[in-house]
Amino acid sequence: PAAPIPGQDRTAQWVRADRDRLIHPNLPSGRTDRTVIVEGRGCHVRDSRGRRYLDAAAVLGMMQVGHGREEIVSAATAQLGTLECFHLWESMSNDKAIELAVRLTDLAPAGLDRAFFTSGGAEGNEIALRMARFFHYRRQQPERTWILSRRTAYHGIAYGAGSVSGLPVYHEGFGPQLPHVHHLTAPDPYQNSAYDGEDVTEFCLRELRETIERIGPDRIAAMIGEPVMSVGGAVVPPPDYWPRVAELLRSHGILLIFDEVVTAYGRTGHWFAAEHFGVRPDLLVTAKGITSGYVPHGAVLVTEEVAAAVTGSTGFPIGFTYTGHPTACAVALANLDIIEREKLLDNATTTGGHLADRLATLTDLPVVGDVRQIGLMLGIELVADKESRAQLPTGTAPVAQALREDAGIILRGNPRSLLINPPLVMDRATADELADGLHTVLARVEPDGRVRP
Ligand code: PLP
Repeated sequence: PAAPIPGQDRTAQWVRADRDRLIHPNLPSGRTDRTVIVEGRGCHVRDSRGRRYLDAAAVLGMMQVGHGREEIVSAATAQLGTLECFHLWESMSNDKAIELAVRLTDLAPAGLDRAFFTSGGAEGNEIALRMARFFHYRRQQPERTWILSRRTAYHGIAYGAGSVSGLPVYHEGFGPQLPHVHHLTAPDPYQNSAYDGEDVTEFCLRELRETIERIGPDRIAAMIGEPVMSVGGAVVPPPDYWPRVAELLRSHGILLIFDEVVTAYGRTGHWFAAEHFGVRPDLLVTAKGITSGYVPHGAVLVTEEVAAAVTGSTGFPIGFTYTGHPTACAVALANLDIIEREKLLDNATTTGGHLADRLATLTDLPVVGDVRQIGLMLGIELVADKESRAQLPTGTAPVAQALREDAGIILRGNPRSLLINPPLVMDRATADELADGLHTVLARVEPDGRVRP
């Protein structure tokens, strides 16, 4: 990586055009700064002015194999030169979609034997929600339409996926949401005052039981949840939460959908986070890490029972233009080869553990309430006050900005927590670079959220 040749720095031009021509998600109009990323290698990216950053977010939690992998470029180029695109409607198929379906269902928890392809996470959740309702419809229970979700969940922002996402910001101003959606309390062991002094799992199970009784078990299609909450703050539930939820749902014939858009493909140290909890959902939604983000893609893995019902004798009636896109599937296959060959699941566990060890003493700082880790998925919860565990009045955005500007670390946060999801190829030295930067910057954060110079 090098700085642009003097006279050839187009940053000012790009920033002006960006401000005039682009709409960004989640960017207040008064904010004029832009960081224009132009190149990436491994765990690092470079901006248009030549500055190098550590990409501790793996773009948006998806760059498992790191930036700039020639092997993926070759797989994409070869496929583009052979069959760039074809579809899976009716009886048409393509070799790469078939190969990827076999590969994924072999890797998935036993019993998830069929794959449906999408181009991303929200699309996957959309398909899962539709399949859940359609499953019951096809099995002569059309009144099973309710979907249970959790209040701090993020499932993407298509209308269905956005409706089951929990935070009001995804709903307000966007008109009627998908009907028959109910949001429950998510387990969050650090914010345990939310559970009336009760054990977190007991509280959540009681609430789930009461909700099922109130709505009526035979009116509920499914419950959707991220096995480990990502955007919600890398929140790892108590180990008994998912097994007990799954058992209760099963006893009422309610399907369980795991949204593993972030947690799959090694992020938590397993192929799928479901394996941590010994739970096999009925539908499992993936995207992001399936291609390490090199091209958009996603897969919904379902049981034979779900597949049989939704395909039925007349077929599953819906799909996308890009369902089974061969170039995306070829990239996914090359990506899975690298994850396997380079043992990135093991690396997520060991480097994640090392990072957690290095970050553990952050809780000595007055503003760090909790450091959570599972594989290479970490959350640092920042608090104004350790007693109340209240969030910083500014949220975490000024801290993320200081990390970027002062320490060259790119990551994002929700209002309570900084989210760390680095590429799974991260080595110990790079983990140390990240830990050093976090220690330096977080030591400057005041309880009012200001970052001292
Ligand atoms: N589900 C989870 C858990 C996510 O974190 C995200 C995105 O961050 C999505 C779904 C949505 O995925 P996409 O943005 O690809 O639609």
